[in-house]
Amino acid sequence: MKTVTFRNGVTVPALGMGTWNVGDTRAQRHNEIESLRAGLEAGLRVIDTAEMYGSGRSEALVGEAVADCRDDVFLVSKVLPSNASYEGALKACQRSLRYLGVERLDLYLLHWVGGEPLDETIRAFEALKQDGLIGAWGVSNFDVDDMEEVHALSEHCVANQILYSLEHRGVEFDLLPYDRQEGVVTMAYSPLGQGGALLRHPALAQVAARHETSLGPATAAQIALAFVLNRDNVLAIPKAGQVEHVRLNLAAQEIVLQVEDLAVLERAF
Ligand code: NAP
Repeated sequence: MKTVTFRNGVTVPALGMGTWNVGDTRAQRHNEIESLRAGLEAGLRVIDTAEMYGSGRSEALVGEAVADCRDDVFLVSKVLPSNASYEGALKACQRSLRYLGVERLDLYLLHWVGGEPLDETIRAFEALKQDGLIGAWGVSNFDVDDMEEVHALSEHCVANQILYSLEHRGVEFDLLPYDRQEGVVTMAYSPLGQGGALLRHPALAQVAARHETSLGPATAAQIALAFVLNRDNVLAIPKAGQVEHVRLNLAAQEIVLQVEDLAVLERAF
């Protein structure tokens, strides 16, 4: 399993699991919990959530899924910019911990830029770290200029969670190399294009037809994921509410894209 290492020395698998929209539908709850547990049982560690997701419903569902295996999980949550004043971020973190039913987050992110002054948010993150309530902190949806602002204030940011998929490759030219050079792990969200048009692109079917995994012929989604996982310093966090999808995402790690495959994808996207 490919891994990424944060600048605080913590190493995790480069494939994690997202949880946007989970916990929203009662009928889906069981499958969503089973999906997270199937991923953990197969060796995944990172689960990404946020106070914004269902106003705590996602965090509560994640808490239920990890209740008997907390120590095996690398838990990530995010504070809303509007809650990211010094006092606001301290309170928001406590609230997230309560929803999750845990004593500590492994990584706490500012969900997007704006809102309260950045130096206040960072001061709160450092206080939370000092008190042992978070292991490390980072940001999300920050571009290169925003990251420069972070670095002018602190050297402790360990991650930047951004939109990165075959459909959104602009960051390959500036942000991905910048983050790598600064020792900041890039967390790629929506790597499957939210299960939409990306997965129907003929180039993905063409590349998939050349690959097999232990589960059978490769799928378009597995190729989209393999493309993101192919990048150094990138941790992909696809969301899967079905166990079968988690298994397919795990098997995507077996795919080694060849020069010819990358050429097809380069031409198409
Ligand atoms: P995504 O992971 O690109 O796509 C999720 C969709 O793909 C779901 O409909 C899922 O279906 C489907 N899927 C999963 N595995 C599949 C497979 N092997 N084959 C076919 N379809 C598959 O989209 P996302 O949820 O937007 O992004 C992932 C995570 O990133 C989020 O859940 C969240 O944790 C995080 N995120 C962060 C931000 C931010 O601002 N920081 C923004 C967006 C997302 P099923 O659910 O039915 O399995």
